[in-house]
Amino acid sequence: MLQFSFTEEQEDFRKILRQYSKEVLLPQYTKWDREKKTPRHLWEELGELGVTGLRIPEKYGGSAADCITTGIAAEEIGKGDFNLTYSVMLNALIGEILSIHANNAIKSEWLPKIAQGKSIVGIAITEPQAGTDAGGIQSTAIRKGDHFILNGEKSGISVATVADAFILFAKTDPTAGNRGISAFLVPSDLPGVDCRGYEDMGNIPIGRGSVYLTDVMIPEQYLIGNLNEGFSQVMNGFDLSRLLIGLQCIGTATQSLDETIEHVKTRHSFGKPLAVNQAVSFPIVHHYTQLELVKWQAYRGLWLRDECLQHTKEAASVKWLAPKYSSEAIHECLLLNGHYAYTKEMPFEQRLRDVIGLEIGDGTAQANQMVIAKHLIGKEFRSYQKI
Ligand SMILES: Cc1cc2nc3c(=O)[nH]c(=O)nc-3n(C[C@H](O)[C@H](O)[C@H](O)COP(=O)(O)OP(=O)(O)OC[C@H]3O[C@@H](n4cnc5c(N)ncnc54)[C@H](O)[C@@H]3O)c2cc1C
Repeated sequence: MLQFSFTEEQEDFRKILRQYSKEVLLPQYTKWDREKKTPRHLWEELGELGVTGLRIPEKYGGSAADCITTGIAAEEIGKGDFNLTYSVMLNALIGEILSIHANNAIKSEWLPKIAQGKSIVGIAITEPQAGTDAGGIQSTAIRKGDHFILNGEKSGISVATVADAFILFAKTDPTAGNRGISAFLVPSDLPGVDCRGYEDMGNIPIGRGSVYLTDVMIPEQYLIGNLNEGFSQVMNGFDLSRLLIGLQCIGTATQSLDETIEHVKTRHSFGKPLAVNQAVSFPIVHHYTQLELVKWQAYRGLWLRDECLQHTKEAASVKWLAPKYSSEAIHECLLLNGHYAYTKEMPFEQRLRDVIGLEIGDGTAQANQMVIAKHLIGKEFRSYQKI
């Protein structure tokens, strides 16, 4: 049976988050950008609302919600504060990786704090010489007794300046290509870990930056998953984060469209509302239609993941088009609101700066098209596990 509806529980969750997003997050969205601050207290409040522990098992303080419910959180929180939506997307990715691949001691120590929104954990793959070609990383983790010694440099890392730890990828077998990469949980206060922020164009409250590793000693129990298999483990996680990023962007763009529809109905030129001109209403229709199409592809991908069915190319299609369509929609909304929207008095310019980042982060358009091509033209399958 084909059914396009959310459960009553999901609709109730959406309502709670929509109200919180509108009343608490939206009025403060630009404040954190202007003050260059990460509002950790709001990250914790989102923990109280159950947003930060959605993909964490109940045993560790999460709700083990399905992926569709997690998508609802990304869309609704995205309407209020694009940047705080990292607490949904990043935590879902980190929560899944740790729940499935970490040992019990790490899970007991870290998952409850992550679920409560009290700890922030980033994911560190990219390096100055290896972005799209993530298998080309050069950081190393060399075993020494019951420890690994980490050296290298990670760049472009979200939450670099505020994270309590990172799931970090390094070569444990430099001769084995993609297969020689392992994942580690690396607390950011370990000796030899140095995190430095950048001045990015957007996502200012996210504190993006580089993580430098100099002879960092990490006990072997901080290895996440199997030795030399970190790469395939995280690639599976990207299928989730890409779908959530899609809804995060769509949430922000939809909020911009809603505000713009109100504006064009009330603003007059030449004695009539702007909205009566098709040159004004058709661009709104165009962007609404694009966003709506990709939104349902995102929920479809999340449904496939909940059913443990293949969804890699669906996730890549959403990650390719949702940030692009959202940037285009926000740009148009800015123009339809006139000069005032080009000032920092309104949120449009910030939304545009913020959303453009995710046309790059978690895989560019080309990177995602490469994934789709591989699945369409050359077959590649992955297996999925429940948390
Ligand atoms: C907002 C944001 C958040 C991020 N968060 C994180 C994070 O939390 N953790 C993390 O590890 N990294 C993160 N990154 C880094 C991000 O993953 C990389 O920037 C991204 O993978 C692209 O790598 P690059 O910047 O090195 O560009 P490059 O790989 O050098 O690519 C440059 C350009 O060339 C194109 N290109 C590359 N190879 C090909 C090819 N074979 N065919 C066609 N075109 C190609 C790319 O699409 C791109 O347009 C983030 C980046 C941003 C902007």
